Amino acid sequence: MKKSVIIAALAVLTLGFIMACGNSHQSTEKHQKKGKYTCIMHPDVSADKPGVCPKCGMDLVERDTTEDK
Ligand SMILES: [Zn+2]
Repeated sequence: MKKSVIIAALAVLTLGFIMACGNSHQSTEKHQKKGKYTCIMHPDVSADKPGVCPKCGMDLVERDTTEDK
């Protein structure tokens, strides 16, 4: 009886740990997958390939990966 409770608790802990890990990993991946190109005036604009900003029509620039955070 006691054993099954411990096993159940361990299972819940393990599941929670996996889900927490998966979520943080997923959000990191999502952030990295954001478009490579952006508008210097509109950082929220992002695109996978070169083009123009839909808001102001400026050329999109390659995201600077060395930018300060
Ligand atoms: Zn723009």
